Amino acid sequence: MVLINDQGLRMDGRRPDQLRNIKIEAGVLKQADGSCYLEWGGNKVMAAVYGPRECHPRHDQDPTKARVRVRYNMAAFSVSDRKRPGPDRRSQEISKISSEALEHVVLTSLYPKNAIDVFIEIIEAEAGTRCAGLTAAAVACADAGIPMRGMVTAVAAGKVDGKVCLDLSREEDNYGETDFPIAIVPKTGEIVLLQQDGHFSPDELDQALEMATDAAMRVYEMQKAALLARYQAQAQAEDEPAEAEAAPAGDHDHDHEDPEVA
Ligand code: ADP
Repeated sequence: MVLINDQGLRMDGRRPDQLRNIKIEAGVLKQADGSCYLEWGGNKVMAAVYGPRECHPRHDQDPTKARVRVRYNMAAFSVSDRKRPGPDRRSQEISKISSEALEHVVLTSLYPKNAIDVFIEIIEAEAGTRCAGLTAAAVACADAGIPMRGMVTAVAAGKVDGKVCLDLSREEDNYGETDFPIAIVPKTGEIVLLQQDGHFSPDELDQALEMATDAAMRVYEMQKAALLARYQAQAQAEDEPAEAEAAPAGDHDHDHEDPEVA
């Protein structure tokens, strides 16, 4: 299978250093303390956060800090063949690495004996779901107002037809040589997740790291924009009733009257 053509373009028309299209929306669920809906190429992800709240079961409590518990789950309808519902080794692995990445930025010592529960639901999957899920989970944590040292942003690089590429598509993930998901804290440059499935030469590894960290900075701007949009919308909604109340002001003699008649 030819994954990169003579013009140096990939099967979906992208250049090697080009991300798929990304859309991020924060605060999409009413019931959760924080939430995020994210589309990344053909991936559709919902992340929801509850807490900090008392950790149950009690034997899971840490008297010195909060526990960050991530549950990554792929919906049965997220892939072309029905996925067997429930946890499997892969989802347990992704849950674990995502918990560890978030634990690194959340100020857990502020909440001893508490738990922060993060749910990542993959509604539709098209390769790169661990990066999409972790990126959404970090936005949901920020939306829940959880104190963090910084955001977490995840992007994968890889090797396809001998060339280092960014953000592999499903065909590239299946037939390419290497998949290299990483997550960074954009504010500090710390790496909080790094996995590699396949081989790189030392030069290719440097190139992949640079490509993925550059792209992570672009995704970080989208995460911030999503949070900003969410709080601007909330501030506007809070201002509107106040403005409506303020409108008849100055007419105190009549404030018992029907405003439509007055
Ligand atoms: P990531 O989604 O982070 O790239 P993997 O490399 O393990 O993680 O998976 C690559 C892709 O393979 C997934 O995004 C998904 O599209 C597909 N996939 C994973 N698990 C299954 C499954 N049980 N059934 C069908 N497709 C799957």
